[in-house]
Amino acid sequence: MNSKKGTHKKVTKIGVLTSGGDSPGMNACIRAVVRTSRYYGMDVFGIVRGYQGMLDSDINEMDSRSVANIIQRGGTILKTARCLEFYEPQGRKKAYENLKKKGIDGLVIIGGDGSFRGAQLFSNEYDIPCIGIPGTIDKDIAGTDFTIGFDTAVNTAIESIDKIRDTADAHDRLFIIEVMGRDAGYIALHSGIATGAEHILIPERKTDMEALVASLEEKEKRKKLVNLVVVAEGDEFGGGNEVAKTIKSRLPNLDVRVAILGHIQRGGSPTCLDRLIASRMGYSAVECLMEGKHNVMVGIMNNRMHYTPLNNAVKAKQKVSEEWMKIVKILAS
Ligand code: ADP
Repeated sequence: MNSKKGTHKKVTKIGVLTSGGDSPGMNACIRAVVRTSRYYGMDVFGIVRGYQGMLDSDINEMDSRSVANIIQRGGTILKTARCLEFYEPQGRKKAYENLKKKGIDGLVIIGGDGSFRGAQLFSNEYDIPCIGIPGTIDKDIAGTDFTIGFDTAVNTAIESIDKIRDTADAHDRLFIIEVMGRDAGYIALHSGIATGAEHILIPERKTDMEALVASLEEKEKRKKLVNLVVVAEGDEFGGGNEVAKTIKSRLPNLDVRVAILGHIQRGGSPTCLDRLIASRMGYSAVECLMEGKHNVMVGIMNNRMHYTPLNNAVKAKQKVSEEWMKIVKILAS
């Protein structure tokens, strides 16, 4: 069989993998891919630890029972990994040969923009159509309103921030809370608004530190002493500890504490929304392969399935609207 890209034949054996950073809801998506494939009479294989599993031929046939009792579980039963060899043509060749040995002729890749870049390269070189599904807590992928895991991460963040507010209130403290998101500020923005944060620092917006200090000073004067500042880890100041240092140096009378939420945001049982979008996207990815679509990312826009060529499914800084920032300011007064 010609290993080069050509006309795609009917897909009969699907490989599914999770790649890059994990996110809650990936299991619900694996379940949807496996069960939809089986429903339509296709064989389906789970590839363990992302592209690394393709290289190591860690590939196991799955059936509907293999994905029983996982819809509610965080993490990914297929594990995930970063795979340096896949950046090299030789690595991708080995991966292709291993897939061919199993007869796999279509791939579903659940991951972030890095995983999609790998999939795009791979499908340009070999005749295996690839369908991407956006799985990342950061919500920074173009071509979709939702990414699997974001809603769960944001809900975990607000649960934690609510608890921090209780103790902040008991002691009249200013809390600087750092949330995840890599170089995107969506977790910070959504969780900050939902917890009534006084200030939200995100990479998409320049922070006016003078204005922030002046606002905290003014709040101190009128005895509004419980203040929450939510900072995205990718913020220009370098995260929560750096922001706290700057504020402490300017307002030494304030009782300032830092909480870095960290990896709890990646784990846990996925929310209803994440389970729903994971199920819809997983189902739709299999349909794409059946219909002969190839090298697209399945997304959801305006509540409809939306397909973006993999090479356009890149990291995207969506615009943060002026109105949202105005809401933060007004509601924190
Ligand atoms: P994410 O998918 O979460 O953005 P990474 O950027 O780490 O995570 O990508 C996951 C994996 O995808 C990498 O470890 C690598 O195996 C593969 N990959 C990423 N970028 C490329 C690329 N440019 N070429 C080939 N493979 C890539």
